[in-house]
Amino acid sequence: MPDQPLSGESALIHAAVQRELGEPVVPPPMLASVFASLGEPSAQAYGRNGNPTWLALERALGAIEDAEGVVFASGQAASMALMLALAHGRDRIVLGRDGYYNARQLADRLRPHGTEPVHVDLQDLGAVERALGSGGGVLWAESPTNPLLRVADLPALGRLAASAGAPMIVDNTLATGVLQRPLDLGAVASLCSLTKSASGHSDVMAGAVLTRDTALADELRSWRTLGGGIAGPLEAWLALRGLKTLPLRIERQSATALAIAEYLAGHARVTAVHYPGTCGQMREVARAQMPRGFGPLLSFELDGSATDADEVVAAARLIVPATSFGGIESTWERRGRWPGESAPESLIRLSAGLEPAADLIADIDQSLRAG
Ligand SMILES: *Cc1c(COP(=O)(O)O)cnc(C)c1O
Repeated sequence: MPDQPLSGESALIHAAVQRELGEPVVPPPMLASVFASLGEPSAQAYGRNGNPTWLALERALGAIEDAEGVVFASGQAASMALMLALAHGRDRIVLGRDGYYNARQLADRLRPHGTEPVHVDLQDLGAVERALGSGGGVLWAESPTNPLLRVADLPALGRLAASAGAPMIVDNTLATGVLQRPLDLGAVASLCSLTKSASGHSDVMAGAVLTRDTALADELRSWRTLGGGIAGPLEAWLALRGLKTLPLRIERQSATALAIAEYLAGHARVTAVHYPGTCGQMREVARAQMPRGFGPLLSFELDGSATDADEVVAAARLIVPATSFGGIESTWERRGRWPGESAPESLIRLSAGLEPAADLIADIDQSLRAG
């Protein structure tokens, strides 16, 4: 091993690589629910407590954010464990009003257990400060948001949370730890749905929490063991396989998304483009906390109705009509088709894949003429 400290990217690639002669370089998925054991059981005596394939994925995730990783069955399973672990003894969870819909729904379910969700605009630091009060809260932040791509000033939120004695969580699914490091910006935990960019191949569901707080990591593992929201070993293996190319993919996808956002900003049928790399006052905050790129996701509004937007989405030949984001294939959808979504009705959310930007722009161009 070289003397200088290993970069996160090398650590990510080598986290699960075997150097033992005769061993497979990449360990196969450990498809076992029971492990032979005697006496005091280790963490891997039973498959709900541990599995070597999760551990490999957790080590790789931890390498990206210099933290301990705890892997779950999905992003939502990770959110549930984190909310339950942090809500204990706290009476408020302060969330962004335009944050991920299912996180807001989940927080609402905590009410009967004594934790009140408070929905605020994370851009409004005064409102966040008032909502946090003088203690007893949790700040659940997300940046950039999905689908409006609004950027919150994470260091400023982190300072407010610290002075209110509230742990700050950042849902980092969109940026991933490659583009944004919430734990360096004041967060106690960083949440990532591995289903999206982190695994990147639209073939697996998983989620993770990254934290440097050992007691919190232990608590999360305990919620996972008792709640049962474990990642399957095959899923963990697929997620790890995808994760190793995350830095390459997300930089290319960010560059492509920026090129598309710039193209759309000049299009006569487009009334608004939402992308952290092009949007006025948010761009400076985004540049400071996302130095390597602004992510694969952008959205735009059409001069037209919901039906017009549906027709544009259906007219694409290359971009796949589908939800989710971060896959190697570009996808788009009219976001307002989802019940409960508050995005403008003509808003189309687009995830840039790995196709060349010129091919994507040509496809968007012909879709905007056909639709
Ligand atoms: C998809 C998503 C989640 C939930 O992840 P799942 O793996 O679908 O459970 C959480 N937060 C954000 C921002 C997401 O996009």
